[in-house]
Amino acid sequence: MKCRICKGEAEIYLPQYHLALCREHFLEFFLKRVKKAIKDFKMLSKGDRVLVAVSGGKDSLALWDALDLLGYETTGFFLDLGIEGASAKARAKVEEFASRRELPLKIVSLKEEFGLPLGEVAKRLREPACKLCGRLKRYYMDRAAQGFSAVATGHNLDDEVAFLFGNVLHWKEEYLSHQFPVLPAEFGFSKKVKPLVYLSERETAAYAFMRGIDHHVERCPFSQGATSIFYKNIMRQIELRMTGTRLSFLKGFYKIRDRFRNPVKEKPQPCKVCGYPTTAGGICSVCRMKIRLGLMEEPSG
Ligand code: AMP
Ligand code: ZN
Ligand code: ZN
Repeated sequence: MKCRICKGEAEIYLPQYHLALCREHFLEFFLKRVKKAIKDFKMLSKGDRVLVAVSGGKDSLALWDALDLLGYETTGFFLDLGIEGASAKARAKVEEFASRRELPLKIVSLKEEFGLPLGEVAKRLREPACKLCGRLKRYYMDRAAQGFSAVATGHNLDDEVAFLFGNVLHWKEEYLSHQFPVLPAEFGFSKKVKPLVYLSERETAAYAFMRGIDHHVERCPFSQGATSIFYKNIMRQIELRMTGTRLSFLKGFYKIRDRFRNPVKEKPQPCKVCGYPTTAGGICSVCRMKIRLGLMEEPSG
């Protein structure tokens, strides 16, 4: 197989584009796709300061690498959830990436914030770890984003398509109304962007490999049997039979997304304790967790 551009030996074939590329031209292709997503959705402007939320996995580290190469001023953000056998390893990959490239990195540790790791918080609150994890990530990401133009996450095409599929299957109108690769800064929340929406997991994995990005490989121990993984596999099966379906499914949705309304459009108010925007009646969900765990007293009034 020859590279379409230079006729040298190709290293990857992209069926969706009927395109074989060598390493140099695949890396160029990848950065072009990131640039196109940023431009199509007006995610960022030149010179923006971006906080890149990194999990230590291939997608978010590939994203950090790409945004840095594209000339954005980036800072990494890692939330250390204290997940046994996972967080410390992921953190080490993130720290190594940042120090090699001399890029700034902010770390928040749940053990320091709560005095407890995620597993223990979930056990004591009798709530699924994944649900709490999502809330904690959003909260600490937003707080770390003060002074930045936007927070970028490494969600890729497979992630977004699986999420869309699940939301359509169950007609989750509220989620559909705010599933978009760019969400503006409003009500005190920071702007959120997903510059990898046009790139599949296979493509981000190839990019990470070719750029020599050492990343955390194992799946989160709490995500065993997650429906999102089941949906991703279904969508991959569909893609194998009908090339290009995933991207057209997602792009088609973006065109009609305005038709979905958030049925509970209550305006968030600052949390009485920490000031984080919340619709949960005065106290945000993270402060509530701390109160329920006895780490903090319920404010009076
Ligand atoms: P996930 O929800 O694990 O699929 O991750 C989605 C995105 O959230 C990743 O691509 C990262 O940008 C971000 N993210 C996930 N875990 C963390 C973490 N522990 N710290 C900071 N950002 C994270
Ligand atoms: Zn080439
Ligand atoms: Zn709060």
